[in-house]
Amino acid sequence: MTSETHQKVTASHLKRDAYLYVRQSTLRQVFENTESTKRQYALRERAVALGWPLERIHVVDSDLGQSGASAVDREGFQKLVGEVGMGRAGIVLGLEVSRLARNCMDWHRLLEICALTDTLILDEDGVYDPAHFNDRLLLGLKGTMSEAELHVLRARLRGGILSKARRGELMIPPPVGLVYNSEGELVLDPDQQVQQSLRLLFETFRRTGSAMATVKAFRRQALLFPRRLRAGPHQGELVWTQLRHSQTLRILHNPRYAGAFVFGRSRTQKKVDGGVRLLWLPRDQWDTLIPGAHTGYLSWEEYEANQRRLRESAQAQGADRRKSPPREGPALLQGLVVCGVCGNRMTVRYHTRGSHRCPDYVCQRQGIEHGESNCQMIPGAGIDQAVGGLLVEAITPLALEVALRVQQELQSRLGEADRLRQKQVERARYEADLAQRRYLRVDPDHRLVADSLEADWNDKLRALAGAQQEYERQRQADRGLLTDEERSRILALATDFPRLWRDPKTPDRERKRMVRLLLEDVTLLRGGQITVHVRFKGGVHQSLTLPLPLNAWQQRTTSTEVVAEIDRLLDQHTDRQIASILNAGSYQSGEGQLFSPHIVARIRHRYGLKSRFHRLRESGMLTLKEIAKLLGITPPWVKIWKDHGLLAAQTYNDKGECLYEHPGKNAPRKMQGLAGKLSDRLRLLSMASNRTEEVQCEA
Ligand SMILES: [Zn+2]
Repeated sequence: MTSETHQKVTASHLKRDAYLYVRQSTLRQVFENTESTKRQYALRERAVALGWPLERIHVVDSDLGQSGASAVDREGFQKLVGEVGMGRAGIVLGLEVSRLARNCMDWHRLLEICALTDTLILDEDGVYDPAHFNDRLLLGLKGTMSEAELHVLRARLRGGILSKARRGELMIPPPVGLVYNSEGELVLDPDQQVQQSLRLLFETFRRTGSAMATVKAFRRQALLFPRRLRAGPHQGELVWTQLRHSQTLRILHNPRYAGAFVFGRSRTQKKVDGGVRLLWLPRDQWDTLIPGAHTGYLSWEEYEANQRRLRESAQAQGADRRKSPPREGPALLQGLVVCGVCGNRMTVRYHTRGSHRCPDYVCQRQGIEHGESNCQMIPGAGIDQAVGGLLVEAITPLALEVALRVQQELQSRLGEADRLRQKQVERARYEADLAQRRYLRVDPDHRLVADSLEADWNDKLRALAGAQQEYERQRQADRGLLTDEERSRILALATDFPRLWRDPKTPDRERKRMVRLLLEDVTLLRGGQITVHVRFKGGVHQSLTLPLPLNAWQQRTTSTEVVAEIDRLLDQHTDRQIASILNAGSYQSGEGQLFSPHIVARIRHRYGLKSRFHRLRESGMLTLKEIAKLLGITPPWVKIWKDHGLLAAQTYNDKGECLYEHPGKNAPRKMQGLAGKLSDRLRLLSMASNRTEEVQCEA
C-alpha cells in the first residue's frame, strides 16, 4: 500500500461505512469459480488495512447468481447505489470495478454518484477517487483497455475457428449417424443400428421423394430413429424415438451426410428482449463448404437432387401455412381458419374439379410431424359461400349504424375507465411524494424513525410503479380492441359492400382482404354436420351449421331427373336392374362413370326413395315365412312351388329374394300320399294347361 493511497483516504471517508459488492453473474460461476469469490472477500482485508473497522464493512452479495444484464433485477446493486447516493458510503470495494466502469452502464453511473458524494473506489489494483481527474482518466483508460482486450480475444478466437474451419479441420459436434474416430476423422457411426436407420431414411426418401412419406413409412413399420440429445443432463446420449417430420427435413438438408464439411450455415442474432434467434443462411452465404471432406451416407449429387425435390414440394405444399397475408387462389378464409378439434391453424389445399379449383381446409400440422392421418379435412366451397352470405347479411348500413353506436358507447366507457385508472396512478404518486417529504423532514440522527419512514417511502414507490404499469397495460389492451383506422375502413366498406362482394369482377384477393377486415377467425368442426363459428372483429360471434357436402359421385349423378327415373323404375326393378337400365339409357354420368347397384342404393337412401321391398309390401305381398305359414308348408317348398309357377312372386333385391302374392281363396294345398307327389301334380297341371282351378279342386 503506497503512501499516496493512504492520502486519498481521509477522516471524512473513514467516518462513513465501507461496502463490499460481491458479484457472480451465473449460478454456475458461484459454484465453480470459488476462487474469484475468495478474491472478492479478500478485498475486505484491504479495507481493514486502510482503517475501516471490520464491523463497518457491509457485504452486499444478494446478487449472487444473477445475470448482470441490467441493474433492474439486481436488488443488491440498487441497494449499493442507494447507500452511495445517501452519502453513507466512504468507500466501495469490488473486483475489477475499473473494468466494469467502462462497458457496464450501471457501474458508470455508480462512479458518477461516487464522484458527487466523495466516495472512494477500491479494487485489487488500488484506490481511486472518482472526483479526482487523474483517477477518472485512469478508470476510463482501464475500461477502454479491457474492452479492447475482450475484442482482441474474441477476434483471435473467432479467427482461429474460421481459419481452422476453412481448412476443414474444425471439430463440430456431428449429427447423429456420424462420429469422430480416435484419429479425429469423421466416420459413419460404428453402431450398425444407427447406420441402418439412416440408410433406410435416405433410401425411403429416394423411393418416395417425400419427407412426409418417409415419416409415414417409419411409422407404419413401427421403426424408431436415433436422436442425440444436445442439452440437458444426458447431453450427448443417444435416444431412440419416433421419427418426426422436422427431424427428417433437418437430416435431408444437412450436407454433412453427403460427406461435405460445412461451417457457418446459420448465424445468431440478438433480440431486443435479450434472447437469441437462429437465422439459417442461404447456401451462397455459408462461410465454408467443402464437398467430399469425409465419408457420408449419400453422394453430393444425390444431396443436390434431394434439395431440388424438397424445394419443389415445398413450393407445392408449403405456401398457405400460418396466418398469412391474402394470396391468389379462391379459398376465401385462407389463413383465418382454426381447427375445432385441436386448435391449430388449418391450411388450404386445392383440388381440381372440372375446370376450377376447389379449396379444402385441412388440419395437418400434427399429422405431418408424426406421420399420422390428418386431424380433419373439410371441403371449403360450401363454407366460403356460407360465410360470404353471412357477411353480406351482417354488413348492412343499419347493422353498421348500431354497431358503431355500440362501439362509441364502449369507447366512451373506456375513456371513463381510463380516467379512473389515471386517478389511481395520481393517488399513488401523491402518496409516494408524501412519504418522501416525511422522510426528508425527519432528523437523520433519529435512525429508527428514519429507517421506518424510508421503508414506507420505498413501499409507496413500488406501489406507484405497479399502478403505472397496470395503467399502461390496460391502455394497450383497450387500444387492441379496434383501431381508428380499422373503424373508418369498415365504415367505408359498408356502403356498397354487397354490390362489391357479388361483383364477379372483384378478384379473389380483394374478397379475402374484405374478409380479413371483418373477421378475426373462423373455427371449423366436422361432425354429423359442419359447425362454423365465425368471430367478427370486435368480438361478436356467430355460429352456422352446414350439411356435409356431397361426395364426388353424388354430385355427378343426382340430378332430379335421375332421382325421378330411379323412383319410377323401383316399382318394377331391383337396384342392379335399374343400374343397367340407366347405363343403357341416356343417363350416363358426364365423366363416363357407370351406375352400379351400390350407387343406386345410396341415391335411394339419400333421397328417401321407398325401397322396392317396401313398395311390394305395401301392395300386400307376403314374405316367405308368411306365405309358408299361410299354406302350412316349409319355406323350401314355397320356393319349389314358386319355381313351378304355382305361386306368383316378385324379386325385391339382387340376391333373388322374393315377396309372394297372396294366393287368395284358391290357394294351392299340400296333399298327402301318392296323389300329393309333386311330379303327379305337375303332370296333371300340364294336362290341364291353364286350368289351375281344376287341379286345386282335385287336390
Ligand atoms: Zn386439428
